[in-house]
Amino acid sequence: MIWNEKMECMSRDEMTQLQSERLVKLVKYVYDNVEFYRKRMDEHGVKPSDIKGIEDITKLPYTTKDDLRDTYPFGLFAAPHSDIVRIHASSGTTGKATVVGYTQNDIDVWSECVARCMSMADVTKDDIIQVAYGYGLFTGGLGAHYGAEKLGAMVVPMSTGNSKKLTTMMVDFGATAIACTPSYLLHLSEVLRDEGLLDQIKLKAAICGAEPWTEKMRTEIETRLNITAHDIYGLSEIMGPGVACDCKYHAGLHICEDHFYPEIIDPKTLEPVADGELGELVFTTITKEGIPLIRYRTKDLTSITHKKCECGRTSARISRFKGRSDDMLIIRGVNVFPSQVEAALINVEEVTPHYMMIVDRENNLDTLEIQVEVDVKYYTDEVKGIEKLTKKIATVIQQALGISAKIRLMGPNSLKRSEGKAVHVIDNRKLY
Ligand SMILES: [Zn+2]
Repeated sequence: MIWNEKMECMSRDEMTQLQSERLVKLVKYVYDNVEFYRKRMDEHGVKPSDIKGIEDITKLPYTTKDDLRDTYPFGLFAAPHSDIVRIHASSGTTGKATVVGYTQNDIDVWSECVARCMSMADVTKDDIIQVAYGYGLFTGGLGAHYGAEKLGAMVVPMSTGNSKKLTTMMVDFGATAIACTPSYLLHLSEVLRDEGLLDQIKLKAAICGAEPWTEKMRTEIETRLNITAHDIYGLSEIMGPGVACDCKYHAGLHICEDHFYPEIIDPKTLEPVADGELGELVFTTITKEGIPLIRYRTKDLTSITHKKCECGRTSARISRFKGRSDDMLIIRGVNVFPSQVEAALINVEEVTPHYMMIVDRENNLDTLEIQVEVDVKYYTDEVKGIEKLTKKIATVIQQALGISAKIRLMGPNSLKRSEGKAVHVIDNRKLY
């Protein structure tokens, strides 16, 4: 099913025309309303009148996550606070959250985009969908929720955490669709198997996102649950889930490009690359009012095609992600930067700045172990002291990252020192 044929199937020329009109309007809007953009455009010698169409977008400077952090909390908002109806936030590189705000129109656009994505998974108003993303500051829960309501589906707002209740309700309610992270869905499939419920479920589709996953994981999910699993993409800075999703042909993720203009650039030279070539994904939110972003660098590595898809949609498609151009990890759906661990450990005087993060996946749930080197002055065999220190670090890490980690204390000089750029992460999950 195509939710909005007019927007999803328009010709390239019509789309370019629409994007041009919207970009021209957006640039004037941010120049008039956001001091940050006014200054930055002045520095680059670009005036709003220089932007006459989408082809002029390369004249505009990039925006990064650091810009959001530096203007914390509301410095990039373009709409007055009285027009903002909701806030979401995600973690930043040094622990300070990046905050985004939505006007009512932004919420409506978001719901529309999520509805389009769910339609790509053939979810309709006749479906019962369990939303098992976290509800709260994270965009996953409420984003999927409002989109599913827009579709007219029956929404069961499960949030995360109680797998037995979720699987029981999945059976009792006859849920036909679920929105959650792919690793959580794999975990749920094991709970269903262990509870002997696998042959009683009516599930037919899953809309999975908020973390990278592989084709192998998709096959695993589809086989175990006898469903089709779709890849939904989004990030809170741009909107949340619903920026793009794959249709039943799984030939890349269709971008809602009437709202989010995509570019692929070489992360080193910052020059645009051709269709099909790998590069960093950049978005301009051409209709957003609350916190519009111009040429926002997502750091996600992918390629793009503008060819029409077999499903009939003409929207540009991005391929599965091939990695990131920075060191961000997504652990249990939470964005984690090694720099956050570093910043947290500075406040613990008993340890050195040497640490190693080991990420793995057990029973389809992400695990994080942090090995921390104890300062020689504090290194003692006394078990009691060690336990106390482990607890102290665990608390500090939990506060900094928003997720728990297993702390392993290491003796002085026991962690390998690297020449050149220090390696702080071993990711055994092989997600790219
Ligand atoms: Zn398609």
